[in-house]
Amino acid sequence: MSQDASPPASPYRLFDVTLKAKEPLSPHLWRLTFAGPEVNRMAAFAPDQRIKIFFPDPQGRPPAMAITPDWYARYKKQDVATRPPMRTYTIRALRAPAGEVDVDFVLHGETGPASTWATHAQPGQALQIMAPNAAFEGDGGGYEWKPPQGLRRLLLIADETALPAVAGILEELAALPAPPQTQLFIEIPGQDDEIPLAGWPDLWVEWMPRGLGAPGALMVAAAQRAAVPVATPRPAPTPALAEVDVDEAILWDVAAPSDAGFYGWVAGEAAAVLAIRRLLIAERKVDKASLNLMGYWREGRVLD
Ligand SMILES: Cc1cc2nc3c(=O)[nH]c(=O)nc-3n(C[C@H](O)[C@H](O)[C@H](O)COP(=O)(O)OP(=O)(O)OC[C@H]3O[C@@H](n4cnc5c(N)ncnc54)[C@H](O)[C@@H]3O)c2cc1C
Repeated sequence: MSQDASPPASPYRLFDVTLKAKEPLSPHLWRLTFAGPEVNRMAAFAPDQRIKIFFPDPQGRPPAMAITPDWYARYKKQDVATRPPMRTYTIRALRAPAGEVDVDFVLHGETGPASTWATHAQPGQALQIMAPNAAFEGDGGGYEWKPPQGLRRLLLIADETALPAVAGILEELAALPAPPQTQLFIEIPGQDDEIPLAGWPDLWVEWMPRGLGAPGALMVAAAQRAAVPVATPRPAPTPALAEVDVDEAILWDVAAPSDAGFYGWVAGEAAAVLAIRRLLIAERKVDKASLNLMGYWREGRVLD
């Protein structure tokens, strides 16, 4: 009897990559293309597929963790002050056969390791990425874009950190024979941060440059005027919304819609998403089960 001693493949794994190319999409959004010997074994299941990127440690040494089954447990045991910082990003495009993956980085200044690295990065520099493992059998998860089949109405509210996911969502929908009627509100740093997006006749897009305004304020105002379904009959009393302290925890409400009538996908600065949550659910009586509400970053805080 043969005995297979190899452990089952994990849903996510670590990849060694080097920066292959870097190009501006807009003043604040840059596309970084990474290549690696095993990127042909990376997987992506949805346009909002999240990954973790490891950056050089505070001494400037590139991450070089040994790729072993217990690497993550060993990483978590390391001193936070000296280990390679980890941040969350989105796979914008994966070309597995070519061993290449694109990640669109917001350059928000030299206030964090990711934005600082991306600002100065030069082709040839090494990083490590934790991403879905193509060898894993089945769906490895790590995404929330799961619209019901035959979706009729969609609301997208996002800022520039979620623009890579939104751009992928629109590409996916534009390829459908009958895409849903869609409203997109997208807050960006400035007017020249608009980028070309896939479209169709029933897509309505509002770019909202914030200029010197507070991050997220325009997203919240958009949630006030967005067209949302009026529940008929009115739903039972709105379920009490569990409080989320966005300075300590990540706000992450996942949709579980019961029909294809309406779906919402909201991501961006966490306090703004929290305000949108209250506004849409408690005030405008949108069914909580139809909404994904995700804090992608928190102003003034580091949440990895
Ligand atoms: C699921 C998911 C997917 C994401 N995908 C992307 C993506 O594809 N592209 C992308 O650019 N970001 C993405 N983000 C957001 C990204 O993880 C954060 O912006 C992260 O904080 C950047 O790390 P940093 O090292 O630059 O800054 P940090 O060290 O985390 O923070 C340092 C300071 O910078 C501030 N800061 C962080 N981000 C911003 C910002 N965007 N604008 C202004 N100030 C900021 C913080 O509030 C803090 O004060 C995603 C987040 C999640 C949860």
